[in-house]
Amino acid sequence: MSRPAFAHIDLDALRHNYRVARSRHGGKALAVVKANGYGHGAIRCAHALAPVADGFAVAITEEAVALREAGIEQPILVLEGAFGADDVTLADQHRLWLVVHQDEQIDMLRAHTPRHPIPVWLKMDSGMHRAGFFPHAYADAFARLQTLPSAGPVTLMTHFARADEPDADTTRVQLASFEAATAALPGERSLCNSGAILGWPAAHRQWCRPGIMMYGADPMPTPDADLKAVMTLGSAIIGVRELGVGEPVGYGGRFITGRPTRVGLVAMGYADGYPRTVPDGTPIIVGGQRTRVIGRVSMDMMTVDLTDLPEAGLGTPVECWGPHLNVNVVAQAAGTIAYELLCNVKRVAFSDTASR
Ligand SMILES: *Cc1c(COP(=O)(O)O)cnc(C)c1O
Repeated sequence: MSRPAFAHIDLDALRHNYRVARSRHGGKALAVVKANGYGHGAIRCAHALAPVADGFAVAITEEAVALREAGIEQPILVLEGAFGADDVTLADQHRLWLVVHQDEQIDMLRAHTPRHPIPVWLKMDSGMHRAGFFPHAYADAFARLQTLPSAGPVTLMTHFARADEPDADTTRVQLASFEAATAALPGERSLCNSGAILGWPAAHRQWCRPGIMMYGADPMPTPDADLKAVMTLGSAIIGVRELGVGEPVGYGGRFITGRPTRVGLVAMGYADGYPRTVPDGTPIIVGGQRTRVIGRVSMDMMTVDLTDLPEAGLGTPVECWGPHLNVNVVAQAAGTIAYELLCNVKRVAFSDTASR
């Protein structure tokens, strides 16, 4: 028998969540599969979504080329755009769409002799101040693109800093600033990530860009979308010991038993992507029952409280997150977000299921 740590990917749930995103927003949706599909496997996710998705988005051209080589034929948008001339050549060869967020990327397109014009998503910095053209410089960038044989149709885009906050005034300000600076420009628009799809209907346009919600983690503080867990990160109990009162468990002796305690050892650690930062008491599912993490998570193993689960023993299945324990709960306990936990999953045995 091999180590029981696994990540199982429910591709039906992924498709379900994509459809939820698309119908909550209206119009078309680019399924965001950057960073290896938020840790789920970009190629398996793209294949599962190919029959239903309008297109895909990744961060970098290498990720896009990998999808093309795996047979994905839909549009693929590269969200960081070109880093250099070679990226523009790849985009042309592989029929990719490029985000353009700064002058240097317009110069790269100008220097390129196209086989096919490259569709461009022109990014505005409407207030996040991470990337994009300032509103006052946007129309000029648009006009320069229009003169280039290498640039195809231009889609107008921006990105929100606080879309997952239902009442952030900055989102209203970003939206107003985008509207004002694009009022005279033709072309389709795209503003929404998951948070804006769910929380900001005023920002819905022709295209949305769902990421995290597709993977079953609702980014809003009060989740209301009908999303299904896509990844189950799980393992099994591989050891059991009985301790008396006052005994330390694990590195640093952080947890001290307050009662006679049955400790379960789980084959899962931070090298698999389970966060080391979770405190004692973090929920975990053992044999279908909710119990708690006790002691520090180590690289390859962690310890859980089996005292109230007499049926649990060697081989009992463990769910770290999944359909019975939302990844957001673990992320919050760890002081981070579901995005980071999902992206970090590695080393475990990956598998997937789909009904077709
Ligand atoms: C990653 C990303 C998205 C997806 O965001 P989620 O919050 O995961 O839905 C959308 N747009 C851009 C520009 C991104 O970088």
